[in-house]
Amino acid sequence: MQSTIYFYGGAGSVTGANFLLEAGDPDASVGAGKKFLIDCGLEQGMGSEDVNWAPFAYEPSDIEALVVTHAHIDHIGRIPLLVKRGFKGAIISTEATLGLVEPMLEDAMGLMRADAKRHGREELYNEDDIAAALKLWRGVSYHKPQELAGVTLELLDSGHILGSAMAKFSRADHSVVFTGDLGGGNSPFLPPCESPAGIDYLVMESVYGDRMRPDDHNRLEELENLIEDTATRGGTLLVSAFSAERTQDLLFDIRGLMMTKRVPSVPVYLDSPLAEKITAAYLRYPDYFAPAIAERLKTGEDIFSFPELHIVKDAHESAGILAHEGAKILLAGSGMSQGGRVLAHEREVLPDPKSTLLISGYQAAGSLGRRLVDGEKKVRIQGEEVAVNCRVEHIYGYSAHMQGEQLLEFVNKIAILPSGERAALKEAFVVMGEPAAAGFLAQRIRDYLGVRATTPEAGAKAIINF
Ligand SMILES: [Zn+2]
Repeated sequence: MQSTIYFYGGAGSVTGANFLLEAGDPDASVGAGKKFLIDCGLEQGMGSEDVNWAPFAYEPSDIEALVVTHAHIDHIGRIPLLVKRGFKGAIISTEATLGLVEPMLEDAMGLMRADAKRHGREELYNEDDIAAALKLWRGVSYHKPQELAGVTLELLDSGHILGSAMAKFSRADHSVVFTGDLGGGNSPFLPPCESPAGIDYLVMESVYGDRMRPDDHNRLEELENLIEDTATRGGTLLVSAFSAERTQDLLFDIRGLMMTKRVPSVPVYLDSPLAEKITAAYLRYPDYFAPAIAERLKTGEDIFSFPELHIVKDAHESAGILAHEGAKILLAGSGMSQGGRVLAHEREVLPDPKSTLLISGYQAAGSLGRRLVDGEKKVRIQGEEVAVNCRVEHIYGYSAHMQGEQLLEFVNKIAILPSGERAALKEAFVVMGEPAAAGFLAQRIRDYLGVRATTPEAGAKAIINF
């Protein structure tokens, strides 16, 4: 049967994931099928405001269900707006994702509200819209088939953040998987990404599709060196980290380094109310962790807490952290240096040659984080010109994404049976990457695996046999 995938967001770009699967109706021509949405994320980076405020390319009230792959804001940030504009269907994700979305959406709303005020725009949504979205939301376990208007949905672990899932839709003998973001196995506590064998179509991420340099360094060693260097020089190690996953990975690693005395004991400040809430939420879902860690959690061990850790309670305390003399580690949100308390800290830390700024994830084109990674020596922060005299380091080992070879291997496992015969996979749609990264990965999938691979642009559609 003919069905259609529409690539509305996250096609030709990393953020703003928004895909629509229209499952063709057996009794009608194409265009009259049931519609399922996969993710409804916020576009981040330069020029994103217009995209986020724009009307949806479909009628929200026509959608049967929205499937959410994970709780990052570029996958969930427009959901309350979708509800505000008429969506009434079910929202489905894993239980852990559902446990993370409320603080994530409230935080995003706060940042957008400030942004809207600055630009004289109407706010995108408010608390009531978030509450309305949560009412429609249902958490389900991995591998538990869900019957939705003629198709079967199954969530598979994508190993990217706690609760992250691939959405697998099946009908009769056909299936299509939307990967969301795929974890590269760097997390010390998440289970690895599953392989969705036997599927017909794949809509996959490619954020690091062209990153071919293997991580020749051990990230724990790199972190150890940075902490030792900071302790020797008496500066600040400022870490700008995403609140969901990256901060928990860092807390876990710093805890390990300090408990085993591999690094000197220095104060560690967690200055991100959102990261604090997310960390607490993580601990409520032990079953979503790798089995060995789940066992430790069930005995009551708090894998993110240690004596050197200070949770910064309010803005007043936040403003005073850098006045403390001596070496310290300061973890602050948000990941792309677009907002949050990290901006105020960056203004003080960047000019200080004793200090180090550690960037630990993907930085959208045009974001402050990206300009710093690219080595700019002068940046503007909140209207003020700031000199960059500190060390700026980027540890790729904290990436929560698969990289070039891993992405190819992921497709290889689906495309080729263990016997060496070709499996059912008909096409890979390579999205959620900048054009160069997506194009490079698609080329390699074609060349090395002989699988049809395309890079749909935003607004494109593809007819599939589903
Ligand atoms: Zn993500």
